[in-house]
Amino acid sequence: MAKSLGRPDVLLRPDEVRQQYSSALGTLFERVRTQAVSGDIATEWLKALATFYEGHVRWAVLSPSGTVQSMESGQQVLAWFVAISPHHPRARQQRQVLQTDWMNSHYGLFVRPERVTHEWAAILATHELEHLASMAGGLETRHQSRDPYLDGEVRAYSVEGVAADVLCEGRYLKALEKVIEENGFTTTDAIAKLNGSRELDGITRRLDGIITPHQAASAGESRLRGGLHIMALAFVLINQQFADWDRRLEGRKRYIEQLYEPLGVLPPR
Ligand SMILES: [Zn+2]
Repeated sequence: MAKSLGRPDVLLRPDEVRQQYSSALGTLFERVRTQAVSGDIATEWLKALATFYEGHVRWAVLSPSGTVQSMESGQQVLAWFVAISPHHPRARQQRQVLQTDWMNSHYGLFVRPERVTHEWAAILATHELEHLASMAGGLETRHQSRDPYLDGEVRAYSVEGVAADVLCEGRYLKALEKVIEENGFTTTDAIAKLNGSRELDGITRRLDGIITPHQAASAGESRLRGGLHIMALAFVLINQQFADWDRRLEGRKRYIEQLYEPLGVLPPR
């Protein structure tokens, strides 16, 4: 069989997928609870996500026949992490490593069965976990307009950034501040313009090295790493410009809108 470019040859079994993410989130949530972390509003959101995950999220499998079967039981399950069987076509066809989806009366995160480094498994799952919690809580709805969509992305990228920072004991935030200072970024426009540039590659490598010494396990992970850095840089700059949390969150929202506009992914207003 021909190898498909950029895709790993060996896909993980559902129990390996579950182990990869639950152990990564276990490490993160342990640190969130025990470390004194910054006064970022998203730190509180992240703590709430730990409780949501442990109390209300369970694992399931998307079987080769297309049915979703639970791998574990639990009461008050509000959302599922669904490991895609390596024998289901979606294992190779799903565009993103992690993709939230509506499942009848429940909410699901469909997980492509491939290796992701320990730190990034936790960081990326945290982003999607925030979406699941918002879906379960009614903040995000199936055919939402632009405003709630952007609010959802602000929350998801905010908790993702805090997760990265917690995992390297505060060094991520310090590195972001240093990159802003050394490059003389004074506007979010200057950061948005980095998108797709060689300059961003250098910045990404540097920030990657702060979070984990390990290379991205796949092209998918690599892309998602860059996606966080370009958000987190702007979020930190916005924090430096505004002391008030409402202004900060509004700034993050407008930045995401600016970045997403050319991609054609924004819902109508
Ligand atoms: Zn998102």
